[in-house]
Amino acid sequence: MQSLTILGATGSIGLSTLDVVSRHPQRFRVFALTAHRQAQALGDLCLRFAPRYAVLADAGAAAALQQRLAQAGCATEVLAGERALVEVAAHGDVDTVMAAIVGAAGLAPALAAARAGKRILLANKESLVMAGDVFLAACRAGGAAVLPIDSEHNAIFQCLPETARGLRGSGAAVPGEGAAGGQTAYGEGSPPAAALAGVRRILLTASGGPFRQASLAEMEEASPEQACAHPNWSMGRKISVDSATMMNKGLELIEAFYLFGLPGPQLDVVVHPQSIIHSMVEYEDGSVLAQLGHPDMRTPIAHALAHPQRIASGVSPLSLAAIGRLDFEAPDLQRFPCLRLAHEALDGAGAAPCVLNAANEIAVAAFLAGELRFTDIAQVNDSVLQVLGSRAAGRDVDEVFAIDDEARALARRQLMRCAA
Ligand code: NAD
Ligand code: MG
Repeated sequence: MQSLTILGATGSIGLSTLDVVSRHPQRFRVFALTAHRQAQALGDLCLRFAPRYAVLADAGAAAALQQRLAQAGCATEVLAGERALVEVAAHGDVDTVMAAIVGAAGLAPALAAARAGKRILLANKESLVMAGDVFLAACRAGGAAVLPIDSEHNAIFQCLPETARGLRGSGAAVPGEGAAGGQTAYGEGSPPAAALAGVRRILLTASGGPFRQASLAEMEEASPEQACAHPNWSMGRKISVDSATMMNKGLELIEAFYLFGLPGPQLDVVVHPQSIIHSMVEYEDGSVLAQLGHPDMRTPIAHALAHPQRIASGVSPLSLAAIGRLDFEAPDLQRFPCLRLAHEALDGAGAAPCVLNAANEIAVAAFLAGELRFTDIAQVNDSVLQVLGSRAAGRDVDEVFAIDDEARALARRQLMRCAA
């Protein structure tokens, strides 16, 4: 029995995780479920999965939820606040933590899981983008294992040689048998560079999003509803907008850098509109290994939950004959400048990825609130990156959040300029 905390249980990834978990009651026990302030939805999940703890980050609704659960005869204890998120991520009775909070809010509990040596199923890519080195150091110190949930990184993980599935510089540990049982540990201080010998390139696939064929003029007028109408994937609104700007692919380049240890020039993006190939690894001998599947997050979630075994996910078999063809094209950096910004941030390293992520969170929130044009998201990101991108990386979580705060403040000032 794996005991599971799901951070962000009411979200798109959280619900997909619970769907897989519900198919294997003999394998998984839900220890804690968390949400931001969706008390109703979290309450429904508690009645269904009876976790020991439910956590609302926003304390306001916790008392009402506790009362509702008690009246229904559910023994789940309701906790509130950010500290409680950290507690259920690091609790001694937890084996596995699904890190599926969206945005920078996911960093602190993911770090807590890392320090506590958990098996971390990492959907919250922001943890790596904001604080890659700090997060990896915490994994190393705590002996945590990380399994990537992002479909691209999960695909790459599956296509890499087993010996190369370690975290960059972490000295630890993507597991053979999970955090509890034998990890395949690299020697202290030795990055998996040697294990990556023979890997020429990682190729991240991108759907191109809803505006793959749109003109810049059309993109200027795009509404939040249009931007969130992803052709292949059903996801939360923030990542949907990121897919439309291709910032998501940019964040994923940075995520791949930290997860797999290949430098920027060996990380490429190819647009693949059908989203059937989830990413590829190219080897020196010319072999290209790909992982294919329906665009359904239950596949990478089930893969990571059961690794190294395989379990049913509820995803239907792939019929290549029905799909008929797989297309590919180069990304257009003119119409999707966010992808260029991510390459720049990777080249500069330091605090640049953290700065870019913070600016983007502010810009996307403003766009979703109807306060910023779609094409201005890239403008805001660019201007903040130019000013703050050369800062040194935060050496601990406090420094990371200080840089994050500064980038957000600057992004807010840029928003006002765009509105003026
Ligand atoms: P979502 O918006 O659907 O769900 C987010 C979850 O986080 C919700 O449970 C919400 O209550 C919680 N949350 C939001 N703000 C919070 C806060 N301040 N404090 C505590 N909890 C908070 O998002 P999603 O689409 O499920 O994405 C979750 C993460 O997974 C993101 O980092 C995203 O980039 C990543 N991801 C998602 C997908 C996908 O298909 N949805 C694919 C790859 C990666
Ligand atoms: Mg992805």
